[in-house]
Amino acid sequence: MRDRPTDEHRRLTEAELGRKLQRNEIVDHVNEDKSDNSKANRRVMQRGEHTAHHNRRRTTGQLVKALSMYKRGEKRY
Ligand SMILES: [Zn+2]
Repeated sequence: MRDRPTDEHRRLTEAELGRKLQRNEIVDHVNEDKSDNSKANRRVMQRGEHTAHHNRRRTTGQLVKALSMYKRGEKRY
């Protein structure tokens, strides 16, 4: 997913920092609600760090889903 340069959360964060965000810096939404651009919901992360952060969450979500499917399947036997 590409960050659009006009993204509001980036503009707000740049204004607060008083500088432009680097190419490798992204603004993460802490509660994952991208429509919530309040200051508390925004944090600057390194791009690689951010990707790892979300991959980790995705992996956990898949495990939970697989486990619940497995449990449902088990009930049939
Ligand atoms: Zn994020």
